[in-house]
Amino acid sequence: MARIVMKFGGTSVGDIDRIKNVARRVKTEVDNGNEVAVVVSAMSGVTNQLVDWCKQIAPLHDAREYDTVVATGEQVTIGLLAIALQELGVNARSWCGWQIPIMTDGTHGKARISTIDTDDMVGRMRDGQVAVVAGFQGLGPDRRITTLGRGGSDTSAVALAAALKADRCDIYTDVDGVYTTDPRIVKTARKLDKITYEEMLELASVGAKVLQTRSVEMAMKHRVRVQVLSSFIDAPGTLVCDEEEIVEKELVSGIAYSRDEAKITLVRVPDQPGVAAGIFGPLADAAINVDMIVQNVSEDGRSTDLTFTVGKSDLERARKVLEEARGKLSFERLIADPNVVKVSVIGVGMRSHAGIAQKMFQTLASESINIQVISTSEIKISVLVEEKYTELALRALHTAYGLDAA
Ligand code: ADP
Ligand code: ASP
Ligand code: MG
Repeated sequence: MARIVMKFGGTSVGDIDRIKNVARRVKTEVDNGNEVAVVVSAMSGVTNQLVDWCKQIAPLHDAREYDTVVATGEQVTIGLLAIALQELGVNARSWCGWQIPIMTDGTHGKARISTIDTDDMVGRMRDGQVAVVAGFQGLGPDRRITTLGRGGSDTSAVALAAALKADRCDIYTDVDGVYTTDPRIVKTARKLDKITYEEMLELASVGAKVLQTRSVEMAMKHRVRVQVLSSFIDAPGTLVCDEEEIVEKELVSGIAYSRDEAKITLVRVPDQPGVAAGIFGPLADAAINVDMIVQNVSEDGRSTDLTFTVGKSDLERARKVLEEARGKLSFERLIADPNVVKVSVIGVGMRSHAGIAQKMFQTLASESINIQVISTSEIKISVLVEEKYTELALRALHTAYGLDAA
């Protein structure tokens, strides 16, 4: 007997038949004698609709009310799944985040889980009741509903698995595992049997939406055994685990892309101490995250161009903040470009092997793709290129690193 957390994403609970399918999968685990907690997302498309409604009323709105609205999608699916389980003769009840409670900090829209009180739930699970838990939502210090950021149900599931000391956390989704790159874009992408926490963390943080970044951080910290698998087909998935558990290590394990970034160039900023602080300070004060940064060499020793990226959804706010500070920063012109994509190559092999970055630059050059910005970490290289090259860049790199499925 094991204690397991099963998480089903939006597509997996996208309609009534699919919810019934999920109920059958849960029943199989219960029939095998396991204690089960299930975490579900809202039906696919629902959260987008809820976000859109908030924006239609006010583009800049009260984040607490936004959370009140967008958390509702998951309340529907927990109730429906509990009913579907009961129909199959399985003892089950639904739990909203606040009923458990899953406590979070007060960062509405992007809250972090602080504690989960599982006492009541564990008692009921021991008595054979399945807990059906709303993903994505929690309760803030002000006793108001919070949400964990888009894709946050993954984090709810891993956090619950850690709190329940579960043997496994199975993330069921619409692909049957973690691939070398997004299988929807590159048809030759290969499924990985195992991937290290570290690589998965990098992949997620540079755009592979299959797991939310925070869920991987949490899995790594609490050593939760996470498995990604399909809710539609019976096939072995991908295990996220420690490096020691992986016998055959690849130099490059994955390639990811993110269309969520936008590029800003400040033309002719003074080349003197304090300028970068002057630019990035006001952005930080406005809670705008800056990712890639490049400062050009100054030709005349007096002024230079500074290019950096921010989240696409922050672009207009960033422009406003910088224009407001223009008097102080004294740049000549601000050029904003949302038509960019960040493509990243990830692999623990980079620590010990030279030439991996060079292969990336060469491959992109041979496809005549111009690199606008470069950034690196110990196990990752990212480049910013024009958005229209997304698929071409991914396919070319996938082949160049020998990742194509046979
Ligand atoms: P869910 O609704 O189940 O949470 P998501 O849409 O959030 O599902 O995540 C699954 C999607 O992630 C897949 O449909 C796939 O297009 C995308 N994806 C991006 N990169 C990868 C990758 N490396 N491996 C698998 N899927 C990926
Ligand atoms: N429903 C939320 C979203 O669409 C959370 C999730 O699906 O993980 O972002
Ligand atoms: Mg998701």
